[in-house]
Amino acid sequence: MKCDTYREQMSLWIDSQLTQDEIRRIEAHTATCQACRSALDALHRVDRLLVSAPMMSPAPGFSARFQVKLVARRRRRRTWAGVATLMLATLALLMGAIIVVGISGLALWQSLSASGLLTQGIGLLLDLGKALAASLRLTWLVIDALSRGLRHPLFIAYTVLTALLVVAWTQIVTRRVFARRPVTVNSHG
Ligand SMILES: [Zn+2]
Repeated sequence: MKCDTYREQMSLWIDSQLTQDEIRRIEAHTATCQACRSALDALHRVDRLLVSAPMMSPAPGFSARFQVKLVARRRRRRTWAGVATLMLATLALLMGAIIVVGISGLALWQSLSASGLLTQGIGLLLDLGKALAASLRLTWLVIDALSRGLRHPLFIAYTVLTALLVVAWTQIVTRRVFARRPVTVNSHG
């Protein structure tokens, strides 16, 4: 091995990262190589200096400030997780509402087609009596569809969920608006 390789291994030795065999090889080399022996001595001196130097202590109040920051960051992360969950729930509800309205619209369209109101069209408009009867029937169809929808357990669940979401959003908005007090840190802590 060249001297350069031994020098590299010497710093590994200082960091206690060498095997006994590797250490023995360095010792054998430094016994015959004056340059490497003085390099090893210098390394040992520096290591002793570093070990005896006092540990740097953090500035007063550092850990308290760090704690406050940590807690604030965790709280922020929790808030955002809650907001994201609420957003997903709101989106899911909106999608559900769109699907339900679409299906109801389709059902209404189908019952209109089946009743023959669409094909009679202009003829009904010309016959006022018939048109009145038809519009009454149409109104009844709409009211029936609506009342059937309102009695549906899905609609009730939807209403409850919407109310809960509104309450949750109100909580978030009021908390974000009113909780903007600056955080005070005890500098003696
Ligand atoms: Zn050497």
